[in-house]
Amino acid sequence: MLYPLVQISYIVASILFIMGLKQMGRPKTAVRGNLLGASGMLLAVVMTLVWVANGGMSDEAVSFWFIGAGVILGAGIGAVLAMRVQMTQMPQLVALFNGFGGAASVFVAAAELFSRSGGEVMTGDVLIATAASGIIGAVTFWGSLVAFGKLQELSWMKKPFKVPMQHVVNGGLTAIIVLLTIGMLNSNSIGMHITLYIFIALLASVLGVLLTNPIGGADMPVVIALLNSYSGLAAAATGFVIDNNVLIIAGSLVGASGVILTQLMCKAMNRSLFNVLFGVMDAGGSGGNADEIYANVRSTSAEDVAMILETAQRVVFVPGYGMAVAQAQHAVRNLGKLLEERGATVEYAIHPVAGRMPGHMNVLLAEADVDYDKLLEMDTINPTMDTCDVAIVIGANDVVNPVAKTDPKSPIAGMPIIDVDKARTVIIIKRSLSPGFAGIPNPLFAADNAMMLYGDGKDAVLEITTALREA
Ligand code: NDP
Repeated sequence: MLYPLVQISYIVASILFIMGLKQMGRPKTAVRGNLLGASGMLLAVVMTLVWVANGGMSDEAVSFWFIGAGVILGAGIGAVLAMRVQMTQMPQLVALFNGFGGAASVFVAAAELFSRSGGEVMTGDVLIATAASGIIGAVTFWGSLVAFGKLQELSWMKKPFKVPMQHVVNGGLTAIIVLLTIGMLNSNSIGMHITLYIFIALLASVLGVLLTNPIGGADMPVVIALLNSYSGLAAAATGFVIDNNVLIIAGSLVGASGVILTQLMCKAMNRSLFNVLFGVMDAGGSGGNADEIYANVRSTSAEDVAMILETAQRVVFVPGYGMAVAQAQHAVRNLGKLLEERGATVEYAIHPVAGRMPGHMNVLLAEADVDYDKLLEMDTINPTMDTCDVAIVIGANDVVNPVAKTDPKSPIAGMPIIDVDKARTVIIIKRSLSPGFAGIPNPLFAADNAMMLYGDGKDAVLEITTALREA
């Protein structure tokens, strides 16, 4: 009686996931979508626990109390992280979450394999799913740890490095992993299955590090989206191992949405997935000598910027990672409102990879109650940038770096940028001339129509707002 009820609740949970995902596609319904997805997961977890409590799982090693303790421990760690982690550290946290998803798949598949000791061997299809959990899960975990290090900007991880003959080594590792999987399929010994699985997971771990480590500069958004997708695929494979429908469906949804996000990120960066994964675009350019490029940089003051803004008809804010660091979104919104009250048109140019996670700028500006219809995507705003009187670049760097168009050797070569250089006047707010995530100088700062306003993003915007009010 309980089994059909559990299966029906899984179907309801899956419907809630799908509805949630659909609603998350639009900013206005995103919060409701998130709640729907979370409710689906709660339902699935509660029903699984009820099932376990009633002896639903054949394996006596599964204990309700053991699972309860895991849930409490996990929820406790999650709550502490949610309270402690700064908004700017969210991308790193998301990378870790992806990684933990992968690690969970490796361990769940291993537990299922180990639980067979002395019992029935797995059938071929389940063995393939087990190997897939180990391979994709381990690649996801270690790849995500590397991504975490890069996003955390750990000094020793900043520069991408390759081992000699990287492609040959990766190809060799992949071939050995495939051979070990075939070995698993051809063996009837559970002991052999376990041994081969351990080797597969270890080699896949090395592969995860080697695949992610050489990817640097601005290409990380693609990698993060891809690892997100992998974590879903690993979970779906594990769903087949433990014969759990909701895990198969949830994993497939994460995998599929991750693939769509990866495609969007590739398009945003003007990259093919092959190029990112195999480093074909990484021409190793350093972007030139910063001292020479910055020889004619002009700086300005908040009062002077206010004077320029007094007569501006159309102002475009171009936010980047520095706006997140400075938590300047509310100050930016207030300056935008003041400009509108004075009769100017105000818009926000959103680059798809600005910040450190997909949708980062949209989230920040939505939090500050900026109208969604004022957020214009790069492709929409670029053709109109030449009618912009003042472009205020706040904490953005790589996404406005014209080198992407001019230097084929640069790490951001070919990436579309927001064409701020076409605006009549460009004000760049940042604390120094230091580079962005890609680590290269930005000739925009020395352009004839550009002026630097040095300082923390929030302080600088507040000073401009005060000066404009007093004008
Ligand atoms: P960048 O990382 O290129 O530049 C951010 C700039 O913000 C820095 O130059 C820094 O200069 C400035 N800054 C930092 N703190 C402050 C502050 N408190 N006040 C004012 N300015 C500040 O950011 P972009 O958004 O232009 O580009 C994003 C980059 O990150 C791209 O290379 C992208 O590929 C990459 N990336 C994006 C991901 C995504 O999913 N969106 C994921 C991973 C990487 P200074 O120190 O002088 O103040």
